[in-house]
Amino acid sequence: MSVPALTPWCRLHALSELDPAELEARGIRLVLLDRDNTCVPRGCKDPAPDVIAWCARARELGLRLALVSNNWSVSALARTSEALSAPVVTFALKPLPFGLKRAMEAAGVPAEQTVLVGDQLLTDVLGGSFAGIPVILVDPQSQKDLIHTRLLRPVEARLLAGVPYGWEHVGEGPGRKTS
Ligand SMILES: [Mg+2]
Repeated sequence: MSVPALTPWCRLHALSELDPAELEARGIRLVLLDRDNTCVPRGCKDPAPDVIAWCARARELGLRLALVSNNWSVSALARTSEALSAPVVTFALKPLPFGLKRAMEAAGVPAEQTVLVGDQLLTDVLGGSFAGIPVILVDPQSQKDLIHTRLLRPVEARLLAGVPYGWEHVGEGPGRKTS
């Protein structure tokens, strides 16, 4: 079963598999990051060192970063924002597009030069579709999920059946440099 609005642009196991230079080469200037189970495993307070290093490398290449989270804990988000040196949009209410659009407006970067990295189909991938942003879907970075997320995981698994991992399956796609 393939539903375009629920199909990620690219599927990877984790953020660390994503090469920031690949994004930069495709004309991407802004990376929106989901927090829970993308940057910070649920049950942990802080991102893993490889995520912190990834953000530093992306910034070195000139990419802008922003966290866009549905998490209601302003203090947890502020802590992660500081750890990653990235601004945060709180109460994003993904899959509604407004939080994602707020982040793009704040960075001054249009949707066609933006990607979202997240771990959930029904919030991140669908939200990206509503906002016109391609989404890189990663595996959840822990086995822990909120109860409603856990109930939706089998639905996600069915929708993702047959969606392969890796850049080699990605077309030139959104954000490609035209020059
Ligand atoms: Mg998440």
